[in-house]
Amino acid sequence: MNLCKNKKVRAALLFAWLLLASYAATAGALASAEEAKHGVAIPVLNYHSIGVAPGNTYVLHPDTFARQMDYLAAHHFTPLTLDEFASVLEHKMPSPAHPVLLTFDDGYANNAEVALPILQKHKFPATLYLSTGLVNTPGYLTWPQIHELSAAGWDIASHTVTHPHLPKLSKKAQRVEILAARDKIEQELGKPADTFAYPYGDYNRTTLRLLRKAKFRYAFTILEGWASSDQPPLQLHRIVVDSQKPFEDWVQQLTEDTSK
Ligand SMILES: [Zn+2]
Repeated sequence: MNLCKNKKVRAALLFAWLLLASYAATAGALASAEEAKHGVAIPVLNYHSIGVAPGNTYVLHPDTFARQMDYLAAHHFTPLTLDEFASVLEHKMPSPAHPVLLTFDDGYANNAEVALPILQKHKFPATLYLSTGLVNTPGYLTWPQIHELSAAGWDIASHTVTHPHLPKLSKKAQRVEILAARDKIEQELGKPADTFAYPYGDYNRTTLRLLRKAKFRYAFTILEGWASSDQPPLQLHRIVVDSQKPFEDWVQQLTEDTSK
């Protein structure tokens, strides 16, 4: 009798456990389906030159840049490496609190001389989209400086060789601009440089096809707003930091998800 009762109790417990397990699995699947439906969105800030040139939209005063980095630190933002950015966007890693990707285009010498020390103070990583043909020319980075940035945890990736308007070039010329820059960076630094940023944000169908064929993982435009897993990986949005806008505008662009 007792034995029979125990068996019944055990069967009932097993049934209850199975019910709970299947409920938990369904809830988990629903949660990730929900996440996939909404996607992940991350603000990607696009800087150029950090220096003093009043009136120039693309030259941000070092004091303003320092103030922006202080804001990120004070408000517990987590600047990501490129690998972390990809992992979060691909749902392979849970998103840290307030993720953000800091990108610098073109390769100005002041990125190493001015921006790097400010970022190092906060231990923030960044990504450089480098036009390799500008290296060692006046006002631009030298290869030793680029090695220094790489050693400090920056990701270095391709922004073409000569910074052209890609849609104005033949397919062959586009291919050279895209691949020669990547090859040069990979040879110099010995790391993959498989992401891209379009000079002037310009691209056409040929550009997209070339990048896809060459297995670039991501490419950044200057379409305004947060980057999101709902956007095509070769057409991710960024927030171009405009030195002429008030600080409050920068905060608003950084904190309001505009990817939807
Ligand atoms: Zn550029």
